[in-house]
Amino acid sequence: MLDIDTLDHSRLQLVPPLAPILVTGGAGFLGSHLCDELVGRGRSVICLDNLLTGQKANIAHLLDHPGFRFIDHDVIDPIALEVSAIYNLACPASPPHYQRDPVHTLKTSVFGAINLLDIARANDAPIFHASTSEIYGDPDVHPQPETYWGHTNSWGPRACYDEGKRCAETLFFDHVRQYGIDARLARIFNTYGPRMAIEDGRVVSNFIVQALTNGEITIYGDGTQTRSFCYVSDLIDGFLKLMALPQAPETPINLGNPVEFTMIELAHRIIALTGSRARIVHRPLPEDDPTQRRPVIERARALLDWEPTIGLSEGLQRTIAYFDALLGERSHAAGR
Ligand code: NAD
Ligand code: UDP
Repeated sequence: MLDIDTLDHSRLQLVPPLAPILVTGGAGFLGSHLCDELVGRGRSVICLDNLLTGQKANIAHLLDHPGFRFIDHDVIDPIALEVSAIYNLACPASPPHYQRDPVHTLKTSVFGAINLLDIARANDAPIFHASTSEIYGDPDVHPQPETYWGHTNSWGPRACYDEGKRCAETLFFDHVRQYGIDARLARIFNTYGPRMAIEDGRVVSNFIVQALTNGEITIYGDGTQTRSFCYVSDLIDGFLKLMALPQAPETPINLGNPVEFTMIELAHRIIALTGSRARIVHRPLPEDDPTQRRPVIERARALLDWEPTIGLSEGLQRTIAYFDALLGERSHAAGR
């Protein structure tokens, strides 16, 4: 008879547990939602972040989870980790944030890509990279398909972000060609939702906070510029579908919501949904601000069977509820 007590239990485990999934930028807006989704699916996760624009509050509920580990680290510095897959999201995404220390932003995209690709090679692990619609610059092709090469300014104030992300795409595809890396690149179009930082500076969080505090809603320029807004859960669903493909696509894939709005329309939608008394004011348009942006998502539809499901009003309502609660907590804490 088998004597269970004398068995070497360590040998019984024939299938080794999967190494954790690395999420860089995991304490940020998108990264924290991705960590939630991965942990919820039973995967162990290493969240690596230098907390530049992310916040511990976004992952506070995960910190005691046995399958979750937080590492405070800057991706511009190399690090050795044992992982089974990588999601590289580390990079400030809001224009005022990425322009605050442009050299560091560029290093984050370029050195960060090199360091993460080294980890992918060392572990033979698939790697997802968060690229951006910004690589299309101020597009002269509209809407933007993946085949469009873009219209960017290499030396303007947005270049630290656009050109860094473009260089990262080059690094990823050179690693595919040169070393056979399994790389999956999403070109993300404007995405919004709960856990954007109050002081993030991007348009959706700005307008909502301004509307809820009955302040001034700051439209930059005349407000006729357009963006196409994707709700966060739709986007994360796209990330997971891209990583679940049996084979990496040969090109980056646009992920975004193809319904386009002007900033004036966005402001009025938010005023209506919040019942705000805030008034609209106009501020100077930032240099090189793209005049229009809308994704062509046929590749995502065909390859991933993916398309956004949450319309702007529903997504805004959920985001407004988040900021309303957060502002309430803050004023309560301040004794007001
Ligand atoms: P975010 O600013 O909320 O999150 C970025 C996270 O990366 C933060 O937690 C920040 O602390 C961390 N980070 C920044 N630099 C780092 C560094 N050098 N080392 C380690 N961590 C660093 O922004 P987000 O909206 O969550 O964006 C996440 C990723 O998605 C970014 O790469 C961004 O370029 C990309 N993206 C986002 C959008 C969008 O609309 N949200 C659109 C296009 C691309
Ligand atoms: N914008 C605005 N008011 C704000 C913040 C942004 O009108 O308070 C405009 C900005 O000039 C741009 C658009 O909204 O035309 C989207 O800006 P965001 O920073 O959210 O994203 P990005 O420019 O990177 O697409």
